[in-house]
Amino acid sequence: MLVVAGCGAAGAEFVRHFGGDVTVVSPSPLLVCQALLPAYVAGNVEEEELSINLKPFFRERGVVYRRGEVKFIKLKCNTLFSNYRTLRGISYDFAVIAVGGESCYYGVDCRNCLSVNTLEDARVARERVSAGGKVVVVGSGMTGVETAYELSDLCRVTLVEAQSRILPAMGEKASVYVRKLLERKGVKVLTSCRVEDVSYEESVVKSSCGELGFDEVVWCAGIRGREISGLDYGKLGIKVDESLRAYENVFAIGDCAEVVVKGEVATKTALEAERQAKFVAKTISRMLKSEKIGLNTYVPFSTNKRPFAILTFGEKGLIVRGNTVIASPSNLIYKLKRMIVKRFLKNFIV
Ligand SMILES: Cc1cc2nc3c(=O)[nH]c(=O)nc-3n(C[C@H](O)[C@H](O)[C@H](O)COP(=O)(O)OP(=O)(O)OC[C@H]3O[C@@H](n4cnc5c(N)ncnc54)[C@H](O)[C@@H]3O)c2cc1C
Repeated sequence: MLVVAGCGAAGAEFVRHFGGDVTVVSPSPLLVCQALLPAYVAGNVEEEELSINLKPFFRERGVVYRRGEVKFIKLKCNTLFSNYRTLRGISYDFAVIAVGGESCYYGVDCRNCLSVNTLEDARVARERVSAGGKVVVVGSGMTGVETAYELSDLCRVTLVEAQSRILPAMGEKASVYVRKLLERKGVKVLTSCRVEDVSYEESVVKSSCGELGFDEVVWCAGIRGREISGLDYGKLGIKVDESLRAYENVFAIGDCAEVVVKGEVATKTALEAERQAKFVAKTISRMLKSEKIGLNTYVPFSTNKRPFAILTFGEKGLIVRGNTVIASPSNLIYKLKRMIVKRFLKNFIV
């Protein structure tokens, strides 16, 4: 039996490409395109546009869906344990871990902070962010810059980045372009500014560049693979080999995995999650057909050295590939991103 933990971009795409019997364990059967969550938080997109219920798709494919969160895995016993109502063990011949990522807080107490990592987080953020309020967005990766821009129509936004430029994982051109875009929109951008403490009682963020008052803080400062006991973790997530294996018969894909191939780190994007899913679906199909095959090496497309991303700011957008930036003054790139999301979700409509 093959068990998949998680049905986000990676898990759902794996199921779509893998032909055999599958059991999916996930807390919700919703597939969510996180790319539109910043726009959702600002009220510019609705849930129907960014998510789909996978139950009909699973039914048509004969996939067994079990609600629950995988909590730990016993590699030697080929069993993983999920927690719906009671803890139950599920045996597998192969397991694919695709449980996504969770925020990194770097020791800051962020109990009350908002985030936009999941639809549940984004629902809470959308409810709590109020028009005219002061919002501090911490972290200026893709999620942080898009969230700051989207919220700037509604609130007074300060974007805080610990490194010397925004979008530090992308080329310098993208940083300069996006900083101008944000500042023109009235977003205050603070770089080389490290958040040390967030106090909701005092409504103050204490940082290396002074105290910043706020009504809400949105934490977007990086993600790490979600923790499942029994697996070996690196700084970014579950350690995998170059064939994306965490163990002989256990694969980890998407945001939960730390994928490093020949010194290049795969970015945590939907594009990478989908490519990894396809790669592992092929690998397992081959392993099931023949026991004695050599494993292929995964080649990431979007890496720390040459990241690829489509960023949108309201109806403006840009495509980043390495240090090349393609910006469109019209809404062409925005339309492209919406079309990609729509097409992706359409794959799961039956
Ligand atoms: C705000 C935001 C904007 C983004 N914008 C872009 C973009 O423009 N372009 C792009 O390419 N990428 C973007 N990304 C990144 C992209 O969305 C992720 O890389 C992609 O969703 C990763 O897919 P995944 O399946 O690994 O994780 P997820 O999509 O997060 O899916 C994880 C799944 O695991 C389930 N799960 C969680 N815990 C458990 C558990 N314990 N047991 C079982 N199941 C569990 C979840 O319910 C979910 O179904 C963005 C991300 C965010 C947060």
